[in-house]
Amino acid sequence: MTPILSVPAAELEQWLSEHGEQAYRRKQIWSWLAKGAMDFGAMKDLPRALRESLSADFSVTSLKAIATSQADRALTTKTLYELDGGHSVEAVVMRYAERTTLCISSQAGCPIGCPFCATGKFPFGRNLKAHEIVEQALDAARVLDSEGRRLSHVVFMGMGEPMANYEAVVESVRRLADAELLGISPRRIVVSTSGLIPRIARLGDEKLPVTLAISLHAARDELRDVLVPINRKYPVHDLVDAAQAYGQRTGRRVSYEWVMLAGVNDSQRDATELGSLLRGKLAHVNLIPFNPVDDTPFHAPDRAAIKSFREMVQAQGLNVTVRDTRGREADAACGQLHERVMRNKLVTV
Ligand code: SAH
Ligand code: SF4
Repeated sequence: MTPILSVPAAELEQWLSEHGEQAYRRKQIWSWLAKGAMDFGAMKDLPRALRESLSADFSVTSLKAIATSQADRALTTKTLYELDGGHSVEAVVMRYAERTTLCISSQAGCPIGCPFCATGKFPFGRNLKAHEIVEQALDAARVLDSEGRRLSHVVFMGMGEPMANYEAVVESVRRLADAELLGISPRRIVVSTSGLIPRIARLGDEKLPVTLAISLHAARDELRDVLVPINRKYPVHDLVDAAQAYGQRTGRRVSYEWVMLAGVNDSQRDATELGSLLRGKLAHVNLIPFNPVDDTPFHAPDRAAIKSFREMVQAQGLNVTVRDTRGREADAACGQLHERVMRNKLVTV
């Protein structure tokens, strides 16, 4: 069965016309999908015959939710989806007072292989198709709708390197932003990357002002070569140049992520290097306390060390925040699909 979101708008309209229907039916179908309709039968303003032909030819989604888990007293929920062909990916919904953020996956596994990341430890599966990315958001929107909430932000911080699946990610962003579907402003969409420079440049040309997050983690090549292996190909100074060019092109402030690893990247030297790399630039540094991953040599710094590193970075004249503990627990799931927390709290649906 063809997942309906894998069909471009024009083709769906063509299909409709072949079935004796007007093109505007396509908008009605999309708006039902955005509202989280689980099957075509629920699309009440479509003629019965059309609903039946749709059901015969298309599926509403290709994703199969196979497990869920929750944290932060159900403010954070994680869903594991099986994709067609058997790989699985995770998406995480984080509920805050003023917004609801979905952390989404763009690949099953990740080819970059950062040594602190649970996703990078598993063999790479495959790229997700655009509709598989959008379907994660539609499923989240459905769940949130039943709670009287609205999906407001999407971050590409789940499994995978979005810039290594460029076309599908850009297409999915356009769909997420499409007012006929979810209508999430690109400004509320964060694409996080380990630093594929040519793709960052290309993204700047798309006229799609998404917020760019750079997973920096180290400000010197020698250390970043180890923590984010793609650095050997795209060194850190060139990366920051590319990110700043993106920021200028789009008018968006770039954010720099820094996973805090005790004794590895949390010293005065690291803060000073970060200072000379970013000072005077339109940038925001986001410190993420490391979330433990089995079989890695890394540890999270204690609270005092996190606070002191934040102060050191601040003293460099940089804008810096630390992800709050709730966020930290939530972020734990992003990119850490197979990690212990998930296994322990697994509830099969
Ligand atoms: N591949 C992209 C996006 C997915 S990872 C990227 O690397 O940017 C999203 C973020 O989670 C990245 O900043 C990544 O470095 C961080 N991350 C990965 N493993 C983590 C862990 N164990 N603890 C805390 N953050 C982690
Ligand atoms: Fe891939 Fe990002 Fe994990 Fe690195 S941190 S292995 S780039 S998902």
